[in-house]
Amino acid sequence: MFGGPTLEVDLHKIKENAEAVSDLCHRHGVQVLGVTKGFSAISDIVKAMNDGGVDGLADARLENIISLREAGFNQELTMLRLPRLSKVDEVVRYADASLNSEFDVMKALNLAAEKQGKTHRVILMVDVGDLREGVMPELAEDMAYRLCGLKSIRLAGIGSNMGCFGGVLPSPVNLGLLQEIARSIEHKVGFKLDVISGGGTSSLLLLENCMLPRDINQLRVGEGILLGTDTTNNRIIPWLHQDAFVLHAEVIEVSDKPSIPVGEIGLDALGNSPVFTDRGVRRRAILALGKQDVILEGIRPVDSKIIVLGASSDHLIVDITDAEETIKVGCEIMFHLTYSGLLSLCSSKYVNKSFKEGEHWLSVSEYPTGNSLRDWSS
Ligand SMILES: *Cc1c(COP(=O)(O)O)cnc(C)c1O
Repeated sequence: MFGGPTLEVDLHKIKENAEAVSDLCHRHGVQVLGVTKGFSAISDIVKAMNDGGVDGLADARLENIISLREAGFNQELTMLRLPRLSKVDEVVRYADASLNSEFDVMKALNLAAEKQGKTHRVILMVDVGDLREGVMPELAEDMAYRLCGLKSIRLAGIGSNMGCFGGVLPSPVNLGLLQEIARSIEHKVGFKLDVISGGGTSSLLLLENCMLPRDINQLRVGEGILLGTDTTNNRIIPWLHQDAFVLHAEVIEVSDKPSIPVGEIGLDALGNSPVFTDRGVRRRAILALGKQDVILEGIRPVDSKIIVLGASSDHLIVDITDAEETIKVGCEIMFHLTYSGLLSLCSSKYVNKSFKEGEHWLSVSEYPTGNSLRDWSS
């Protein structure tokens, strides 16, 4: 690699987060699927999640499910995004279970499973309010009953998704409804469902407050384990690490410049109309980091006195006038991430990834030789 922006991952902190989430869940009889889509299922991070005691793995992308399998992860893999009709063979081949809502797709999964001599587990998604995927509650029982006619499909349970499209918070009411639907399905089909899957990170708050309905026995957790945050509830999860991921970007120019551009203002490089506040002459730094690497809204300088002014595809501009330390060309500036920041960094081929376990760096790509704001001791 060329020493471009580097995403540093503290595997020990990921492991501790996975451990804390798993412990909380297990104490309440809830199993945890570690969700790997936030970091493109990079093996070292998956391993850290596993070491922390998650019960299974789940991802929304078939590519990631396949790479998990090929990397030798042999525990249960769940496909989170509704399978495409065109990809049922692959879903059955690589995943043990999938979340579903469309009968035609489940019929096709059934055929694919029959051909492969397998039984594929289905979690029927029920929409209890967020309005992303899932059958409407009044249709769930009927759909579950029809599913039982498919011989190579096993109705493993039902599930729900929260805080994704509608931003609906999980609650004792909507998850209570899910639990009720599970009971009526069990009554109709004549067997007990293995799984009632009650959402992701945002459901942890209910568990902490002992308000998760009793029959919910699975959560699918990504953000909490990775970042120790819960965006839907707009909170930091105080018993988790928030700094398992830190982004480092190198300074390529430092200079004092006015805060209002000079000349007639058109559109910026990406077609937006920029707005500026006149704060006089300020010291600015340009970093080798841009919109090709990260969603701008997804990063926050570790030094809160540094202000992100904006970015084009390859240049990030920050105001360093009030920065805690003297910043020179060749320094690295560090950033904390949100989930969207993490997603974008892991999807960019320009971003180096390096891993450490405790105090020990496992694989570090090239670093600049100049002054560094990196604090090697933390
Ligand atoms: C991404 C995803 C999750 C994980 O959500 P987090 O908020 O990251 O815990 C859970 N379920 C489904 C269906 C998802 O797509």
